[in-house]
Amino acid sequence: ELLRAALTSLPRTAIVTSSRSYSYADLLAMALAASVKLASSPSTLASSSSSNGPRVAVMGEPGASYVAGSFAAWLHGGIAVPLCLSHPDRELQYVLEDSQAAAVLSTDKHAERLYRLAQPFGAEVHVVPEEQHGQPLEGMPAQQHGAPDPEVDQQQQQQVQVQVRVQVQERLAGQQPGHGALIVYTSGTTGRPKGALHTHASLAAMADMLCEAWEWEPQDRILHSLPLHHIHGIVNALYCPLRIGACVEMLPKFSPSEVWKRLQRERDPISVFMGVPTMYSHLLSRYDALDSDEQPAAAAAARRLRLAVSGSAACPEPVMRRWQQLSGQTLLERYGATETGMILGNPYRRERRPGTVGQPFAGVEARIVGSDGQDAGSGPGELRVKSPQLFREYWNRPDATAEAFDSEGFYRTGDTAVVEDGYFKLLGRTSVDIIKHGGYKISALGIESVLLEHPAIAEAAVLGLPDETYGERIAAVVALEKPGPAGSGDGGSKGSSSSSSGLELAELRQWAADRLPPYQLPAELRVVPAIPRNAMGKVNKKELRLQLFGGGG
Ligand code: ATP
Repeated sequence: ELLRAALTSLPRTAIVTSSRSYSYADLLAMALAASVKLASSPSTLASSSSSNGPRVAVMGEPGASYVAGSFAAWLHGGIAVPLCLSHPDRELQYVLEDSQAAAVLSTDKHAERLYRLAQPFGAEVHVVPEEQHGQPLEGMPAQQHGAPDPEVDQQQQQQVQVQVRVQVQERLAGQQPGHGALIVYTSGTTGRPKGALHTHASLAAMADMLCEAWEWEPQDRILHSLPLHHIHGIVNALYCPLRIGACVEMLPKFSPSEVWKRLQRERDPISVFMGVPTMYSHLLSRYDALDSDEQPAAAAAARRLRLAVSGSAACPEPVMRRWQQLSGQTLLERYGATETGMILGNPYRRERRPGTVGQPFAGVEARIVGSDGQDAGSGPGELRVKSPQLFREYWNRPDATAEAFDSEGFYRTGDTAVVEDGYFKLLGRTSVDIIKHGGYKISALGIESVLLEHPAIAEAAVLGLPDETYGERIAAVVALEKPGPAGSGDGGSKGSSSSSSGLELAELRQWAADRLPPYQLPAELRVVPAIPRNAMGKVNKKELRLQLFGGGG
């Protein structure tokens, strides 16, 4: 569906990197060239006969090759499997093996490493070259010598567009919307990552729904700096703009100073930005570190954005408040998962409520179910959802797939939620964030958001530890604000009132006693230099608990 949509925007700019710009026609031409390589590869051909189509792993720096790689997989009737650039060999091997990848498409830079990793599974590695396509940006060396003749250039481009249209239409003829399109691996916060298989239909449903909800327009330009192996970076920040004919400007990776620099450039202004909460918190810290005469331009740039979205993890309310002060707009916090796409979101036009994830998006049925399996009204209980965006299955895990859905076809999110005043609020992952303490069910996220109000605390993760008397007791793991000279620090100091060398449990409990009921006060405290997070800014609490408190807690 995305490929058909791209055919309607062929001359428009699709992708811009630090050195080149690619039209939709360029992207499709690259994808067609790569799909020819797939078609000539014995391993991909061998698995083409399977009803699912061959799995084609895709890895590359954010740019046209990466996008063209997924498109090539689809043109070949295959399923794209995005790989994470920063994953160690072991994780990449896990994904290659689990998805039974028949081929890997990558950029030159990663080809050798991938060849070594993919060889044991018999997957062939092909390079998708970027330099032969697109236009160099102003100031970048051109491919050909001599100035191009604009008329000849235009004629050539029109010819490319005609060829691309014909060839893409030929390849897509007969492809079914229910055919597998993408396997995205979950974050692995609750266990080994599982491959969630989305079809062309579920991806199109996700993109259409968000394009409408967030009013995407062809004139939009998003600054993309999210990882490209999760729904957030792939669907929300890439497929949505590509679906509508908008432009995606890609940074090699997230860098607060690069983001501020680009947002401030007025030529080709950025209209949309998306990030995980830690990215916003780094942007705010970077803003604080700017000289006072530089800050107004940055604030003006944040105000120019028509939409700034946060998701993938709960956005701390202090971050929300500061972004609001800076930019004049409340971050649009939304909630979703690999298996479901986006299902709840604060409204684009109406009131956005910090600390909540808004309401079900159009086409999403959401309900809250109690531990007895019965409807729990406004909760608390497990959030379950049904929508055309839902994944089809966990790759090669029929048991896990069957367990994921209830008897009425609702997907069990594994998250506990309540509805307050029409807005959904997440209390966290049922298995790791809901702490059962002496008959109470306590939301770790709720305590975290209070701890983050403490002037000395920069990051907080709250865990349940096994306890003989209470079932579980509450442990707080915190990282402290970096001390630094006022106004110059890069840690975004909140003006620490606590001793900068550390924080004591008794001191924290005393401070928190005014803000939390007694049974929610932490019984243990660990101060760490930083809370480990994955590429999506998520904390693996099971691993953190094991690291800091050992198996027995
Ligand atoms: P795994 O399924 O492997 O354990 P995971 O659930 O972290 O990992 P993802 O699909 O990447 O895998 O993440 C979805 C989860 O992220 C949601 O179920 C929810 O717990 C969390 N999440 C997403 N958006 C938000 C948000 N705005 N606020 C709080 N939590 C969020």
